[in-house]
Amino acid sequence: MRLILLGPPGAGKGTQAKNLVDKHGIIQLSTGDLLRAAAAAGTPVGKRAKEIMARGELVPDDVVVAIVAERIAQPDAKNGFILDGFPRTVPQAEALDRMLHQRGLDLDAVIELKMDEDALLKRIQNRVAEMKARGEAVRADDTPEALHKRLEAYRVQTAPLIAFYSDKGTLRSVDGMAGIAEVAKAIDQLLAAAQPSRAADQRAAERRSTGR
Ligand code: ADP
Repeated sequence: MRLILLGPPGAGKGTQAKNLVDKHGIIQLSTGDLLRAAAAAGTPVGKRAKEIMARGELVPDDVVVAIVAERIAQPDAKNGFILDGFPRTVPQAEALDRMLHQRGLDLDAVIELKMDEDALLKRIQNRVAEMKARGEAVRADDTPEALHKRLEAYRVQTAPLIAFYSDKGTLRSVDGMAGIAEVAKAIDQLLAAAQPSRAADQRAAERRSTGR
C-alpha cells in the first residue's frame, strides 16, 4: 500500500502515520524526521537544511526529492510506504509521480486531514507547552514566528496539492479535528472502501497482461 498524508503542520500526520505502519506493515517516511536527522548528524545536506527549517521555510525540492528517492528504493519499502510531509510542493508531487512510474507503481490514496487554522495554532502551542513541562527539547521551528511561516508555506505551496490529487481522483478527505482514534477509524474506513476497486484494477491488469 502506498499512501500520502496531506495536511497543515499540527494536523496529526505523524500520529496517524504510525498507526498505519503498525496495521499495514509498511514504512513511514517523514521528510521532516529525515531532515532533522541529517541536521543532527551534520551532513552537508543537514547543514544546508538546518537554517531553512528553523526559519519555517521549505527546503529546496531537489534536496527532499533525493532523500525520498533513496529511501523508497530500500528493501523494507517493498510492501509500501506512507509519506508524511512529502510531497509539499507541486514540483515534488510531479517528481514523485515520475519516481513511481519508473518503478511501475501507483499511489493507493492521498489522505487529506482537514483542519481549522485556529485549532492548529492551539494544538501546536499545547504540544510545545507539554514538551517543555516534560523537560524535552522543543523543535527550533516551534516558535510563533516559524510557525506562522510554516502555515503560510502550507497555504501557498502545499495546499495546491489538494487540487492536484483531486484532479487525479486519488484524494480522500477526513476531518482532522476529530480525536486521534476517530481520525484513525475514518482513515481505515476509506482505505477499506478503496480496496475492492484496487483488487478489481489488479484483476483487470492481469487479464490485460495475459491477453484474456
Ligand atoms: P510539520 O508537518 O509540523 O510542518 P515536518 O517535520 O514535516 O513538520 O517538517 C519540518 C520542516 O522540514 C519544514 O518546515 C521544512 O522546512 C522541512 N521539510 C519537511 N518536508 C519537506 C518537504 N517535502 N519539502 C521541503 N521542506 C520540507
